[in-house]
Amino acid sequence: MTIGILGGGQLGYMLALAGYPLGLHFRFLDPSPEAPVGRIAQRVTADYTDQAALEKFSSGLELVTYEFENVPVEAANFLAKRVPVYPQPAALEAAQDRLAEKNLFRRLGITTTEFAAVSNPSELNAAVKAIGLPAVLKTSRMGYDGKGQWVLRATADVAKAKSEIPAVALILERFVPFTRELSILAVRSRNGESAIYPLVENHHRSGILRLSISPAPRLDANIQRSAENAARRVLESLKYVGVLALEFFEHKGELLVNEMAPRVHNSGHWTIEGAVTSQFENHLRAVLGLPLGSTGPTGHCAMLNLIGEVPDPSEILAVPDAHLHLYGKSPRPGRKLGHVTLRAASPERLALRLSELPAFFHRPDFCLDAALVHSASLRA
Ligand code: AMP
Repeated sequence: MTIGILGGGQLGYMLALAGYPLGLHFRFLDPSPEAPVGRIAQRVTADYTDQAALEKFSSGLELVTYEFENVPVEAANFLAKRVPVYPQPAALEAAQDRLAEKNLFRRLGITTTEFAAVSNPSELNAAVKAIGLPAVLKTSRMGYDGKGQWVLRATADVAKAKSEIPAVALILERFVPFTRELSILAVRSRNGESAIYPLVENHHRSGILRLSISPAPRLDANIQRSAENAARRVLESLKYVGVLALEFFEHKGELLVNEMAPRVHNSGHWTIEGAVTSQFENHLRAVLGLPLGSTGPTGHCAMLNLIGEVPDPSEILAVPDAHLHLYGKSPRPGRKLGHVTLRAASPERLALRLSELPAFFHRPDFCLDAALVHSASLRA
């Protein structure tokens, strides 16, 4: 049985690795001849808009899924006429447009920050008046990892942004002075069964995820419940199939949803070693209509992204409980090259292991202090 995957990056790579023990085969489509999955699976190198390539790609596949949410919806629709595509193209469409996504949350009664559409630069002043400052201006489409965003703190920033923004649809959001960022991964199978992982605490630098701690420390049961309710509402309203990630801000003891990703997610990498069933395996089970595996945690985890450079693997592996994942990509600044997961029996043990990581990880951009401070406050 061969599964087709659109996008050949590290998420696809880890999906395939989770699928091999289940006896699955994989075929990837990615425009880049450098896509890391080429090392481990069939890879078709073509643009997502190349219908002849899509046709050839889909031949003999059981189903198609994707690991990259900016796949053109037309490509997903084209394939859906030939083989089942999960998550359904409608979920892809909703998640690709920040405005559509926020309107969906609003319709489902899931709290977001205040927002307003800015269909062209001339509407910016009116939106600022409605939303107030500080605010964050984002391109509505094709934004990821903090790209296409402007933080507007004062009137001067508004004028500056106006001179910089492209002539595309934008969204203005009220800036949330959040206590922390959290995400939740949920999974729904073709047969309607669903399961949810515990909330994870995330730390970003320059818009890129650097560190995830799971389960999120100091978590109020109401917060977990509210995240689960939000995830269930999205899953059921879209009759969603596969893994879905929801990202939140925790603010004044409440959750505000920021965005969703219709795919496996970087903040769920810890599930490979830290949950009974990984997000990758559960995504495959879901799209195949197989029973889902337990989403229960098997310990306390910290996941650190390796961005732009990789330290000496032997230094990482010398730390007990450390697991190294390298994606086989050539180093480039800002590029996710791999990750390290530490799993421990208790938050205290996790803090100890984090403190034992080589000096490479103790630079401010790894946000390790945040993890260590939390652990210290747990001990206190
Ligand atoms: P996004 O691309 O929406 O995930 O935004 C990237 C990062 O920018 C988030 O992880 C937050 O750290 C920050 N951010 C985005 N939107 C807001 C907001 N409305 N208020 C405060 N920070 C934000």
